[in-house]
Amino acid sequence: MTGTAEQPSGKGTAEVTLDEVVSLCKRRGFVFQSSEIYGGLASTYDYGHYGVLLKNNVKGEWWRAVLQERDDMVALDAAILMHPRTWEASGHLEGFTDPMIDCRTCKLRFRADKLEDAQCGRKPSVHPGEYDECDLTEPRQFNLMFETFMGPVRDDAARVFLRPETAQGIFVNFKNVLQFARKKPPFGIAQIGKAFRNEITPGNFIFRTREFEMMEIEYFVPPDQADDWHRRWMEDRMRWHTDLGIRPDHLQLRKHGPDELSHYSSATSDVEYLFPMGWSELEGIANRGDYDLSRHAEFSGEKLEYFDQEKGEAYVPYVIEPSLGVDRSLLAFMVDAYDTEEVEGRKRTVLRLHPRLAPVKAAVLPLVSKAGMPEKAREIYEEVRRAVPAEYDEGGSIGRRYRRQDEIGTPWGITVDGQTLEDGTVTLRDRDSLEQVRVPADGLADRLAARLAEPWRSPKLG
Ligand code: ATP
Repeated sequence: MTGTAEQPSGKGTAEVTLDEVVSLCKRRGFVFQSSEIYGGLASTYDYGHYGVLLKNNVKGEWWRAVLQERDDMVALDAAILMHPRTWEASGHLEGFTDPMIDCRTCKLRFRADKLEDAQCGRKPSVHPGEYDECDLTEPRQFNLMFETFMGPVRDDAARVFLRPETAQGIFVNFKNVLQFARKKPPFGIAQIGKAFRNEITPGNFIFRTREFEMMEIEYFVPPDQADDWHRRWMEDRMRWHTDLGIRPDHLQLRKHGPDELSHYSSATSDVEYLFPMGWSELEGIANRGDYDLSRHAEFSGEKLEYFDQEKGEAYVPYVIEPSLGVDRSLLAFMVDAYDTEEVEGRKRTVLRLHPRLAPVKAAVLPLVSKAGMPEKAREIYEEVRRAVPAEYDEGGSIGRRYRRQDEIGTPWGITVDGQTLEDGTVTLRDRDSLEQVRVPADGLADRLAARLAEPWRSPKLG
């Protein structure tokens, strides 16, 4: 038996505002303001249950693509705190700065290179129309490194830094990995971990925070292959985002101009996403040349090079670095998946996430909480959750329970009703089409697991 219990109007909203996503995140417990009971700490967020599950899935898909599906990569998990010389060698103590300006009128502080995003520009009473140059101070370079002290004495000798990128943990381990992984260039080291930047103007929810998580690859190549690998990584990374459902027309590559390049980079392209506040960097893909390995070799006195047996010569590999923020990636997936439509005169909010990203894959719901249905539903739930992450929910009307699952992006709803007790079938509801089909409960868990492995296309693409 096939039927459609809920009839969508077929009209989805075109775009979403950041406020709508923030509100869904709070309503469904994805993300909370940190230290909320004390009034919150600016631009600092905590991830709740579904946020953790979604974040884990984003990281899991990244590991799958960069490690499991390739032969040329190994994993690393380096410490956040590193020897302070690291940051002298890497150039961060000197060069990891943003230009900061102050507004003499509203007393706020901005990044000179991101003035168009500045909040005070949106206050006509403060700055009517264009910026008034007289109001702004000259830019000063502000170092983004967070510092702290190791041990009981707070002096210069005890000063250490919270890493502003995970990359340096990879560079200082180059020799270890080369020795133990038995790889030769081209090969890469991948790592996920926290990073800290004392951003001048954090904001836009989890887009720019001072504490965030990065997914970074340092890919070591013979120098004459660097341009080619840079291009290949740009293609690979673009494909990762779109394979996981990001609409291709909301994604673009933008090459940095010479004045934008980081101190270590000879060429960088950003993967940009059309966030609610406009096109913004999602992932950076840089050609760091031999800058980092050469500098660490110079500062540490260790040789950081690869000896090519065939050519009989040593060289310092060039490095291609695809670097993506976990939180920013999660935000892009949520923004891209967010949709609303009218179903039988009522608004439905739905996260059309790729099923592999969805925090919960299947919800098992007894139609009513009596007549043996909860017992049967729990039995089916035990079976389903062995194969895929699932939830059991018997609270409230079935309509309300569906809406709840729609808002957290659960692709499949399994409803147990009177007929289930007679013939062992359940209704399987599809989050996107709202189609409900009657299927045997037997073997359903394995069938859903198999569906997760299938390619998926965002219904927003039509
Ligand atoms: P921006 O120009 O936005 O400051 P960036 O060029 O300094 O970014 P990178 O150093 O290239 O950023 O960092 C790599 C990735 O890490 C970014 O593409 C982004 O996904 C993420 N990222 C960087 N800074 C932050 C932050 N403050 N909050 C959240 N994610 C960040």
